[in-house]
Amino acid sequence: MNFEPNTLKSEYDVVICGAGPAGLNCALHLLANKPSLSIALIDKRDPWREPVACAEAVHLSGIKGLIEMNPNWIRSEIDGVWLVAPNGKRILYKQEKSGIILDRALMHYDLAKKVQLLKADCNFRTLVKSIGQFENGSRIVTIQSDGIQTQLKALAVIDATGAGPNLCDDPSLLQKHFDVEPAVFGLVKGIPCDINHIEMYFGHTYAPGGYAWVFPRDGVSANVGIVVGREYLKTHPPRKLFQQFIERFAPNAEVGPLHGGPIACGQGKDRISGNWLIKCGDAADMVNPISRAGILEALKSGEFAAITLLKLFDSPNDQHATIYLEYEKNWDTYRGKNHIRLARVKQAFGNISDKTLDKAANKLDKIPDSKRSMFRIFWATFTSSPSLIWKMRSFW
Ligand SMILES: Cc1cc2nc3c(=O)[nH]c(=O)nc-3n(C[C@H](O)[C@H](O)[C@H](O)COP(=O)(O)OP(=O)(O)OC[C@H]3O[C@@H](n4cnc5c(N)ncnc54)[C@H](O)[C@@H]3O)c2cc1C
Repeated sequence: MNFEPNTLKSEYDVVICGAGPAGLNCALHLLANKPSLSIALIDKRDPWREPVACAEAVHLSGIKGLIEMNPNWIRSEIDGVWLVAPNGKRILYKQEKSGIILDRALMHYDLAKKVQLLKADCNFRTLVKSIGQFENGSRIVTIQSDGIQTQLKALAVIDATGAGPNLCDDPSLLQKHFDVEPAVFGLVKGIPCDINHIEMYFGHTYAPGGYAWVFPRDGVSANVGIVVGREYLKTHPPRKLFQQFIERFAPNAEVGPLHGGPIACGQGKDRISGNWLIKCGDAADMVNPISRAGILEALKSGEFAAITLLKLFDSPNDQHATIYLEYEKNWDTYRGKNHIRLARVKQAFGNISDKTLDKAANKLDKIPDSKRSMFRIFWATFTSSPSLIWKMRSFW
C-alpha cells in the first residue's frame, strides 16, 4: 500500500499517539469538526501491516453506527456462531447478518489516507518514547525515528497506543493494567471453517478461563487463536494449547507463523483523562473482559476523546475538570460500567467446569436451532451447575 509519510513539525495543537481504530477515529472527528487544528498522528509501524493482531470480528450494527463503512472492508458476513463444548458438541447460535469479519488492514489504510487528506501530519515510522507531564501550557512528546530522538510540543495529547505501554508518567494518570492477557493467533489454511460463521471453543480442554476461536478470513484460511485467563498462564501456556488445538481439529492444516497480541481488559477506577491528556481504546483497558472484543470500544472512545478535546479548547480552565469527568462518564455509560460488572464475574465464568459445559451443550442440542436464544444458552449453562448462579451474584 502506498503512503507518503509527512515530515513532522515541532509543535501541534494535538498529537495523537497510535493509529489503531481509537487514534484514527479520534483524528477524523477532530478534523471533521475543527479543520483548523494542527494534528500529528503518529504510529511506530504502518497500521495496515499484516497480520493486524486481531480476529477482526465486529457486530455490524455496532460498527455502522460508529464509522462510515466501506464495503471493501468486509471479508465476510457472519450469520451466527458455533459454540463448541469440551466434548466436541457443536451448538449453533443463529443471528443472520449480525456480524462481519473486517479487513482491518484495509480499514486502517483508508482511514489514515482520509486523515492525511484532511491535512493532519501522519507519520507511521515513528516511535513515541514518552509523553511528558503538562508544564507551561503544553506537553512534550519524545519521539524516535531512524534512531534519532526529537521532541514535539503539543497543547493536547491523545494516548491511543494500545495495551499497556503507560507512556505518560503523570502520577494522576498511571494505570495498573492488571488484566492484560497475552493471546496467540495464526493464519491457518485447510482447517474446516464456514465463511459465514465464527466458532468459539469453551472449556479447560481448549483454553481455561478464556476460549479458542476459528474465525473465517477469506474462504481459504482462518484466523485461529487462543486466549486464556491470566490465572492459567503459567500452567497452560497459550502456544502449547494452540498446538494441541491444531493437532485435534486440523492436523493436516498449513499453519502460518504464530503471533502474539495483548488483550487489554480490566478497566479499573483509575483516571484516564486530565491535564490535556486523554487515553482511549486499549490504552485505557476498554476491552470487554468476557468476549475480549475491543474494536467498537476503541472507535467510540476515540470519538468521545475528540468531543472532549473540542470542548476543552472552547472552554475556560475552570470548567476543564468537569469536562474530563464527562469523558469518563460517557465511556461508563456506553460500555465501562458493564465491563466492570463483567470483570467481577469473569473468573466464575472462566472456571465453569468442562462437565457443566458438556451438560449444557447436551441440553441445548435438544432445542431446535431457530429457538436457541442467548438467554436459553445462559439458562442451560446455569441450570447445569446451580452453584454458578451464586458465584455470579455480583453480576445480577
Ligand atoms: C489476538 C487478538 C484478537 C482480537 N480479536 C478481536 C475481535 O475479533 N474483535 C474485536 O472487537 N476486538 C478484538 N481484539 C481487540 C482489538 O484488537 C483491540 O481492542 C483494538 O485493536 C483496540 O484498538 P486501539 O486503537 O485502542 O489499539 P490498537 O489497535 O492496538 O492500536 C494501537 C496503535 O498504537 C501503536 N503504538 C503502540 N505503541 C506505540 C508507541 N510507543 N509509539 C507509537 N505507536 C505505538 C501500535 O503500533 C498500534 O498501531 C483482539 C485483540 C487481540 C490481541
